[in-house]
Amino acid sequence: MQRFLFLDRDGTIVLEPSDYKVDSYEKIDFYPGVFYWLGRIVHELDYKLIMVTNQDGLGQERLPEELFWPPHRFIIKTFAGEGIHFLEVHIDRTYAHENAPTRKPGTAMLQHFLDEGIDLSTSYVIGDRLTDMELAKNLGAKGIWINQDPGLGANEIHFAKNELEKVISLKTRSWEDIYYHLASLEP
Ligand SMILES: [Mg+2]
Repeated sequence: MQRFLFLDRDGTIVLEPSDYKVDSYEKIDFYPGVFYWLGRIVHELDYKLIMVTNQDGLGQERLPEELFWPPHRFIIKTFAGEGIHFLEVHIDRTYAHENAPTRKPGTAMLQHFLDEGIDLSTSYVIGDRLTDMELAKNLGAKGIWINQDPGLGANEIHFAKNELEKVISLKTRSWEDIYYHLASLEP
C-alpha cells in the first residue's frame, strides 16, 4: 500500500516568519535538519510527499503573486536538489473566516485521495498547527505535530483537543525524531 507524507510548508519544512508569510528570499529559513532527515525518510522509507499549505490572501494585497512564487519555487527547487521531490503541491489561498473546504483542516484539495478510496491509515500529516492534526483526522491518517504551538490554528479546529490527540503519533521539534519514529514503524 502506497504511503504518503502530507507536509505543511511554513513552520514545518521552513520556519514560520514572524509575520506568517514568506514573501522574500531573505525570509526563507529552512527547518534545521530537514534536508538530511527528510532526505533519509524519502530515500530509505517508502513515502511519497504531498505538500499542503494554507497561504492566506495569496494573490491579494496581503501576499501578491509576484512576491509569493519566487521564494516558493526556490524552496521546491532546493529540496529537489537534495533528491526530495513533491509528487503534488496544494496551496489554498483563502482566509480562515471564509471557511473554505479547501483550507486546512478541510480536505477538498485532497479529495482525489478520498474519491479513489486510498487507505491513508499508514500515512501521516506533518505540520505545526492543530489544523494539520485535524487534517490528519479528516483524512483517516495519523499526525506528527512538529514545533507544536497550541495557539496556532486553535480557533480553526472542530474537534476537541482530546479527539485530535488520538491521531497524533508524535510530538517533536526535531526532524531527526521524525525520521527515527517513521523508521521504527517499518515492518
Ligand atoms: Mg504551518
